[in-house]
Amino acid sequence: MEIMYSSTRGGGAKVSASQAILKGLADDGGLFVPDRMPKFEVPLENLKDMSYQETAYEVMKLFLTDFTEEELKACIRGAYDDKFDTDVIAPLVKKQDAFYLELFHGKTIAFKDMALSILPYLMTTAAKKNGVKNEIVILTATSGDTGKAALAGFADVPGTSIIVFYPKDGVSPIQEKQMVTETGKNTMVVGVNGNFDDCQTGVKKIFNDSKLEKEMADKGYQFSSANSINIGRLVPQIVYYVYAYGQLIKQGEINPKDTMDVVVPTGNFGNILAAYYAKQIGLPIGKLVCASNENKVLFDFFGSGTYDRKRDFILTSSPSMDILISSNLERLIYKIAGNDASKTSDLMKQLAGDGEYTITDDMKAELSSFVGGFASEEETAKEISDVYKKTGYVIDPHTAVASYVCKDKANATQVKTVIASTASPYKFTRSVMMAIDADKYKDMGDFELVDELNKLSGVTIPQAVESIRTAPVLHDTVCEIEEMSEVVEKRLGLR
Ligand SMILES: *Cc1c(COP(=O)(O)O)cnc(C)c1O
Repeated sequence: MEIMYSSTRGGGAKVSASQAILKGLADDGGLFVPDRMPKFEVPLENLKDMSYQETAYEVMKLFLTDFTEEELKACIRGAYDDKFDTDVIAPLVKKQDAFYLELFHGKTIAFKDMALSILPYLMTTAAKKNGVKNEIVILTATSGDTGKAALAGFADVPGTSIIVFYPKDGVSPIQEKQMVTETGKNTMVVGVNGNFDDCQTGVKKIFNDSKLEKEMADKGYQFSSANSINIGRLVPQIVYYVYAYGQLIKQGEINPKDTMDVVVPTGNFGNILAAYYAKQIGLPIGKLVCASNENKVLFDFFGSGTYDRKRDFILTSSPSMDILISSNLERLIYKIAGNDASKTSDLMKQLAGDGEYTITDDMKAELSSFVGGFASEEETAKEISDVYKKTGYVIDPHTAVASYVCKDKANATQVKTVIASTASPYKFTRSVMMAIDADKYKDMGDFELVDELNKLSGVTIPQAVESIRTAPVLHDTVCEIEEMSEVVEKRLGLR
């Protein structure tokens, strides 16, 4: 039976998966959610013998029911190929008591590649299926990693163009360099004098501008999103939790049906929501540990039931998690409200108006599998250093937040615990090396540090970093928050 998608805020008609992918965000500003949760039918013991690609097909076909087998398999083949520097796509590495699920072996060395390698295939297939003739303009806000991964995915893809907004002073030097050196002809990268929340809110505003939508249509354009609000990003992220479970069986760590816990370094709540969906379709996940940095809105929410964004935005060493408005939480809110769109819509209005909302006790009771934790900057740095000193394994600051929270809140000696390792340490070389030995490394340049990290970890320098050492800057547009729409209109020749 086909799965249809409707808005968390109740507006508009139900749409098919391919239409939801094309639209990105629902017309009423809500997020698309499946009208029922499918069940994973493959026996768990079979998982250990399935490749990443085979696992991807079995998971994604459950949600993207209007794609044919050939279409979906072609998307998967195109996405998970030798763009990844390992055949297994997502290696599961045991260190101390925990298992690090390395999600950073794609083209831009962050976990965003897991979904953004396939999204362009899903989107162009969806366009074909729905007879879309317009050019699809991907509009994306990034806290640092989505930007480059989306640029890499959509660069020179016929029928698409992409505009990325990033917080000008809110990303790591390597993240920024990766984006502003992008060569794709259909790409634009814009620094915004604001933080990630400003970028994300600005993009959502442009999406909801119906006058602009009409002008765009007249010129043969339509918007879509590469952010994790797009279900075309969320669904591919469910895959690696299922895959990790199979790997635990394969490594002899668990028997089929045993429970696995996960710890996820969280920002926009996309990655951990995918784990929650994996649990909903029947994967034996026990606890979902949500790890935050000092922007610990979610930690407070899981403790008190109140989501309160009224606080200072803190720039940390894990910039991809510097977020106070976690968009995908809306999908969880909808679920724990008993799929009640009007309740969800009310709470989101309160968030927009008052900057906070509180869920009911009944809703809170539905959150029993979630545990919140957070790591301060000092704890994050110490975790990087501790793990390196004990094991020789170097982790990035985002993974370190999760790794610290794992020790603090999870029970890895009792239940097999998978930490989502979301970025290569090479992407955050300065923070990583300063954590390991500040005195030794403090005066070195960014690329000198890359070479030092290589010496220290023995891990080959990824192509993603090598290729930007000497690459020229091709994008230097910077704008104010209020100017974002104007930038887009100019780019599309509407002004
Ligand atoms: C995006 C990102 C996160 C946060 O993931 P969400 O899905 O937004 O919660 C964590 N770590 C890294 C390295 C990221 O790029």
